[in-house]
Amino acid sequence: MIETIVIGAGLTGLTIARQTKALVFEKSRGVGGRIATRRIEDQRFDHGLPYWPCNVKAKKIHDGSQCELGLTSIAKELARGLDIRFEERVLKIIKTDSGWTLQTDKGTFESKNVVLTAPVPQALELLSASGFEINPLWNVEYYKSLVGLYRLSIGPQEKSQEWDGHEIVFQREKGMCPDGISFIASPEFSDKWFDRSDEEILIELNKLLTKRLGQRKIRHQELKKWRYSMSKSVSTKPYLEVAPRLFLAGDGFLFSGVEGALSSAETLLREKF
Ligand SMILES: Cc1cc2nc3c(=O)[nH]c(=O)nc-3n(C[C@H](O)[C@H](O)[C@H](O)COP(=O)(O)OP(=O)(O)OC[C@H]3O[C@@H](n4cnc5c(N)ncnc54)[C@H](O)[C@@H]3O)c2cc1C
Repeated sequence: MIETIVIGAGLTGLTIARQTKALVFEKSRGVGGRIATRRIEDQRFDHGLPYWPCNVKAKKIHDGSQCELGLTSIAKELARGLDIRFEERVLKIIKTDSGWTLQTDKGTFESKNVVLTAPVPQALELLSASGFEINPLWNVEYYKSLVGLYRLSIGPQEKSQEWDGHEIVFQREKGMCPDGISFIASPEFSDKWFDRSDEEILIELNKLLTKRLGQRKIRHQELKKWRYSMSKSVSTKPYLEVAPRLFLAGDGFLFSGVEGALSSAETLLREKF
């Protein structure tokens, strides 16, 4: 019997797993979750969280210095030495006499404690497939995000900028791709265009980009879609104990974003482990 299983290798899951020595299941190929760095033609772009928020006092995790290897390097550091099973999705969580059985797409595992750290709507889907009904969390909501990644001609003085809820981040300011930008579309735009094809979305993003920066020669463009990016409304509690020793934690609790993820993880560790 495993002592603790954590579902998800994002900031919340890794923070909890480091302290509890948990076994981690992660459905994707790498760590970080919404802290995500992508390589394009040998250059790095952050296409999830754009900056480490300066209001977050997590000195232990990140000292606020530049991350030339991308923000994922923070998650990689946290993940060092942990037992993480990648590309293994948890499908069901079942109560047993001595704890919990987890069914993944690769096997079955027994554990005393389970911590689920997926964005709340995904966590609720998994719990619902497992026979739980969690009414108090249906009002936790997330923004959608459409993020365009571009390599284009850039002037030496150009700086990251925000307007009408959109954000352009020049990757060179973070020591990464010298001619790369990420264009994080506003929540309104992302909501409106999310279900359209990548081609249609990129055409619209390019129009906005040209309006803002003027005509540019684009060397490369691609799109990343986040159905859940930053939490918009959160639970008033720091975590939820769904049933004895089955916990939900993450950025849907207490505060949104990185601050919520860390404070949820730290409070859960302090109070229950
Ligand atoms: C475009 C964008 C911009 C953002 N901007 C900001 C910002 O400015 N400020 C800020 O504070 N925050 C921002 N955020 C949000 C911030 O990145 C998140 O709050 C934080 O990374 C959440 O971490 P987490 O570990 O709670 O969740 P996640 O990073 O989502 O980790 C959950 C993990 O669980 C895995 N998982 C889910 N279901 C299963 C399953 N069934 N089995 C196995 N694994 C599973 C997922 O693959 C994922 O890796 C932004 C996010 C995005 C995408």
